[in-house]
Formats: sequence, structure tokens, C-alpha cells
Amino acid sequence: MWRDRAKCRDGDNTLFFDPDREAEAKAFCVGCPVMADCLSAARANNEPGVWGGTTEEERKRRRQASRGWTKGRPMTAHEERCLKALNGAEQREEARRLFVSGVTQSSMARALGITQSGISKWLRKQEKADG
Ligand code: SF4
Repeated sequence: MWRDRAKCRDGDNTLFFDPDREAEAKAFCVGCPVMADCLSAARANNEPGVWGGTTEEERKRRRQASRGWTKGRPMTAHEERCLKALNGAEQREEARRLFVSGVTQSSMARALGITQSGISKWLRKQEKADG
């Protein structure tokens, strides 16, 4: 089960449910080998707190954006540097996490110098891989 491989499995999980420590919790998730599974579980079960490197608010905004209720946001300079530093599956996984946290596909495409449909393909592929 994916939870057995979670980076946070032996730690103090109160970190992920403390609204004053969201940035710390998100930073902890970076590099977790099951980030995509964790994010999928949070989305499927409408979980509170930080899961898969995203906050509850970010997941809510993404749900609304996908229903056309809100627009996304551009990437921050830090997010752009992180995304560019990754390769292959890790980069696709990070793109999905950014998308769920509200970043627009066009913003990611610009940063990586690829087309928006290329980013859409990544996201669909990642979505399928996560079930
Ligand atoms: S992504 Fe974060 S919350 Fe989810 S299992 Fe990994 S460390 Fe824990």
C-alpha cells in the first residue's frame, strides 16, 4: 500500500493539519515517493489538511477552476525553478501537483518552452497512472 512508502509515515502528522504550518508541511512533501497517490486520495476523499504537497484550499480552488468557476494562477519564481530542475516522471508529477495547487497549464508550458497541449497530455497521463 502506498502509505507504507510515505515519507511522513513515522513522523508527527499534526504538521499536515496545522493551518499555521502549511508551508512547512508542503516543503516536507517535496521528494515523497508517493506524492501522486497521496494527492489522488485527498482529492477522492475530500480530505482536510496538506496532502501530496497541496493545501485543502489549493485543491478546492483547482476543483472550482476545472468547473470553470475561477481562473488559475501563474507559477511563482520558486515553483518555476523547481519544475525546471526536474526531469521525466518527476517533472510530470510536479506539474500535476502545481496544476492541482492552481497553476495554469499555459504558465507551465511557457516556463518549459513546450506547448499547452503537451502539458495537457502530461496531466492526463499522470491522472490515468494514478487511477
Ligand atoms: S505527499 Fe506529503 S502528506 Fe502525502 S504521503 Fe508524502 S509526505 Fe505524507
